[in-house]
Amino acid sequence: MTDVLTRSQRSYCMSRIQGKDTKPEIVVRRLVFAMGFRYRLHVRKLPGCPDLVFPSRKKVILVHGCFWHRHTCKNGQVIPKTRRAFWSKKLRANKDRDARNRRALRTLGWDIFVVWECQTSRQEWLAERLHSYLET
Ligand SMILES: [Zn+2]
Repeated sequence: MTDVLTRSQRSYCMSRIQGKDTKPEIVVRRLVFAMGFRYRLHVRKLPGCPDLVFPSRKKVILVHGCFWHRHTCKNGQVIPKTRRAFWSKKLRANKDRDARNRRALRTLGWDIFVVWECQTSRQEWLAERLHSYLET
């Protein structure tokens, strides 16, 4: 298969893969695995290189760090005190890219479930939500 990713998409994907063993992502993987669902990790040919991919269900789970992906929680509203202009531009670009990737995934027929970092401390609650997302 030809590599259809642009250079910037590819480097984004690589950075995602390098960050793949973050704690929130491990929490989600463990919960989902324990429920008996099997998945693929970081599928590069899909928009945004989704974290967990369930090909037969046509579903993906995205695990988002609150700061980097601008969650509505308080950690997602923080802008570092130095180089504010740089950070607000960068973080806004992240958010825009997330929205673009979600649109592209939906266009391809994928269902999307976003898990925010701050939600991974409520594991029972999260497990229920993940289960009902995946089983339907
Ligand atoms: Zn959050």
